Amino acid sequence: MTDWVLLVGAIALGACIGSYLNVLIHRLPARVLSDRPVHFPARSFCPACGKPIPAWLNVPVFAWLLLRGRAACCGARIPFRYPLVEALTATMYGLVFAVPPSGLHLVRAEWDWEAALAFGLHAYFLGNLIANTFIDLDHRILPDRLTLSACAVGILGSLFVPGIAGSLGTPLPPASDSLLTAIVGAVAGAGSTAGIRWLGTVAFRRQAMGLGDVKLMAAIGAFTGWQGVLVTLFAGSLLGALVGTWHRLRTGEAEIYFGPFLAVGAVVALFLRVPLLRFLLEDLPEWQRSSPAAPWILLVTAGLCLVALFVLLRRGRAT
Ligand SMILES: [Zn+2]
Repeated sequence: MTDWVLLVGAIALGACIGSYLNVLIHRLPARVLSDRPVHFPARSFCPACGKPIPAWLNVPVFAWLLLRGRAACCGARIPFRYPLVEALTATMYGLVFAVPPSGLHLVRAEWDWEAALAFGLHAYFLGNLIANTFIDLDHRILPDRLTLSACAVGILGSLFVPGIAGSLGTPLPPASDSLLTAIVGAVAGAGSTAGIRWLGTVAFRRQAMGLGDVKLMAAIGAFTGWQGVLVTLFAGSLLGALVGTWHRLRTGEAEIYFGPFLAVGAVVALFLRVPLLRFLLEDLPEWQRSSPAAPWILLVTAGLCLVALFVLLRRGRAT
């Protein structure tokens, strides 16, 4: 019963934080470029006509639906982006509450301060990823203020919630092992991404990834450990390749930016890294050993993927 109340609370909190993220996404890039502090006014104003917005019209998602996407004061269109960010954040917060991210073995019955702190840290991490995603989509930057602070919060937080980023299984006390896991994760994230960036620059003679991606991956590693880095890079590149190909087919542009894909990969890593790695490292080899049809099924699947990729590439060249 109380779980339902808390779940609704988590979703409502997510919607409010999403509303705050909209302002941050809108204002932070300009402040970063001019190096001024971000200022949040106590009241909100219509960006189109400058009139103050009454509090009841600031209710996330519902206000947008109620107004059918137009400002009450002047009828200016309110981009769909606003309710989208709010709904996305609300969904993520509900998920973090209902399905504790893998790697963290907290029993739901024990809703204590540690579980609450874990929820707070993951909520911060997801909000940070959402802000980074939309700022990168808009301006092609991942601000240091977001990526580096997420890295610091992840490493510090691991001290207070042992095992939040997983465990290296060292004989150290839980807090020290947890801290070491987060630091190793951050170093693995930054190191592997810097390596890919260097390889990409050498191979394609142009910058494949930015330094912002390196810092973002350090933050992702601090929150999800080195296993999370692996899953993030895998899921992020897979998604990036698919969306990049589709984007190229539609627009002919070859340019791709990684921030949003890394963020989606990080969400996959946060919730699914333990089952995914178990499947890849244990279940799949086991299935291959036990079933005589397994190699053929894998071969046919790989062949179909190759044909699909070939068709995509051919069509890409034709357009
Ligand atoms: Zn207005």
